[in-house]
Amino acid sequence: MSKPDATQAVYLPPVEIRRLQTGLLAWYRQHQRQLPWRESQDVYPIWVSEVMLQQTQVQTVVPYFLRFMAAFPTLEELARADTQDLLRCWAGLGYYSRARNLRKAARILVREHGGEFPRSYREVLRLPGIGPYTGAAILSIAFDQPLLALDGNVVRVLARLFRLEGDPARSPVKGMLAAAGQQLLPARGSGDFNQALMELGATVCLPRNPRCLLCPWSSHCEALKSGVQDRLPEKGKRPDTHLSRQAAAVIRHRGRFLIRRRSGSRLLQDMWEFPGEEFSRPDLADSLVKYLESELHLNVQLRDRLTVVKHAVTNRRITLTVYEARLKPPLPPTLSIPGARWIWLSQAGRYPLTVAASRIVQALTAE
Ligand code: SF4
Repeated sequence: MSKPDATQAVYLPPVEIRRLQTGLLAWYRQHQRQLPWRESQDVYPIWVSEVMLQQTQVQTVVPYFLRFMAAFPTLEELARADTQDLLRCWAGLGYYSRARNLRKAARILVREHGGEFPRSYREVLRLPGIGPYTGAAILSIAFDQPLLALDGNVVRVLARLFRLEGDPARSPVKGMLAAAGQQLLPARGSGDFNQALMELGATVCLPRNPRCLLCPWSSHCEALKSGVQDRLPEKGKRPDTHLSRQAAAVIRHRGRFLIRRRSGSRLLQDMWEFPGEEFSRPDLADSLVKYLESELHLNVQLRDRLTVVKHAVTNRRITLTVYEARLKPPLPPTLSIPGARWIWLSQAGRYPLTVAASRIVQALTAE
């Protein structure tokens, strides 16, 4: 049996395409959110915002974007950024490799492209941290190149508009979505069209309970006509979730606390945390004491449980139990530990802390 032709499956006559384009763009002009990266056509803020928006909601990104642009207002300044300053600006936004890749790419642009962002899609895709979606979004918004930016929001809108059943991450639906979006994309003004499509997905064509009454495409939408909008797009298989039980210690000594820098190629590398680990044994407190002794050569006595921090990193659901601790005499000849520092609580803001460490600092501040 021959494969279904993706273009044929979603074909629309030109007059219909023009109606959809005009309707969406008129809606966008009236309803787009005022966002700081939309105030300029400069490629640098557009690039930074697109990287921050990967896996992250617009409302979360706004304050980080403003802080980042104040700290590194130009590509050259980003290329020169110190790791700790860079991570401090990103702390709490997650997926920290995005920040490292931004700086890596900025260095490549300064070194090999005279500080200019390339206009060629192929060259853009060679830069660290830029995949097909981000590359298309940057080039269409900054340079009006007719490239479709197919993110999760856009997939949802198109799957519903054309009523495409099946897993959108796989053939043939994946090809149909790309063909559907590409034929709708105008030859000029593709950046506005891409942003309008994303905005529609983010604010109207919501994953649950889409607001079809407010949608400029409601009279064209095949899913709405059939009443199946709530179950499209179909969900692919999600990666298994790993439950992680961890314990950490807030070790106080003469009013200061011990924090350490995550080293090597560990997740959250170079971020700062309170010392601790993941444990499989049921007795967390006992495991933590032994761990601190073997790893940091610190003999501690655990006291009260300070707090329990629950959070998620990629597909790991973490429950971190935090204990107050004191050093047990006799104290070692030196309290200096490689990669760790004794700090006053008031100094915590100077370090790029992990999300868990920030929550612990909040708990300590509230004490
Ligand atoms: S009519 Fe409803 S389901 Fe269809 S595109 Fe608009 S918001 Fe989405």
